[in-house]
Amino acid sequence: MKGLLLAVSGPSGVGKGTIVKTLVSRRADVVESISCTTRAPREGEVHGREYYFLTKEEFLRRVAEDDFLEYDEHFGNYYGTPKSFVREMLKERSVILEIDVVGALNAKKAFPECVLVMIAPPSLEELKRRLTSRNSETDEEIENRLSRLEYELSQQDKYDYVIVNDYLERAIAELEKIIDNKQKECEKI
Ligand code: ADP
Ligand code: 5GP
Repeated sequence: MKGLLLAVSGPSGVGKGTIVKTLVSRRADVVESISCTTRAPREGEVHGREYYFLTKEEFLRRVAEDDFLEYDEHFGNYYGTPKSFVREMLKERSVILEIDVVGALNAKKAFPECVLVMIAPPSLEELKRRLTSRNSETDEEIENRLSRLEYELSQQDKYDYVIVNDYLERAIAELEKIIDNKQKECEKI
């Protein structure tokens, strides 16, 4: 395998998606894994780009076939990382899983070389502002997402790296440095 597997976690609205998508758009040697989910697509989301949108029956069939590196339920919907996609991609490139804390720790259990990176907000106020300004969730969904915040941030010490997403470009550069340094370490082995 040529690439690294990285799991990038952090509270909803912290900027994981923005950081990962920008980095992936700049580097041909890094791709983002596309998860499967049973939640409905948000406006603008495309099947096979943001997620593979599956019915609950399809999802559970793939669970039974052991097709997920890890999977979990959030906010009443299933989300999972397809093993086949990750294995294929790692032959040529590094793969980023944008995934919650429980998923990341399960991915590490299944794949111990997985590098865990937590994205933290500069403050709670700024996190709320970002979550609200995204305009993609109802007030109830926002409250749900904020209620998980304390738990997610309390898991920081299980992570290999913590990046504070204050300034976007600085946070992206930090993630790139982690990937470059880890890739160099692997080349030495
Ligand atoms: P997540 O994927 O963690 O749920 P998003 O990437 O959707 O979060 O980001 C949530 C909102 O915050 C978006 O509107 C995004 O443009 C904005 N955002 C991300 N990073 C920053 C930053 N460093 N400074 C200000 N706004 C940011
Ligand atoms: P959203 O509905 O906002 O896209 O994602 C909701 C939550 O599901 C986020 O915390 C996100 O990180 C998590 N998630 C996305 N894909 C996966 C996955 O493949 N596995 C797990 N365990 N969680 C995921």
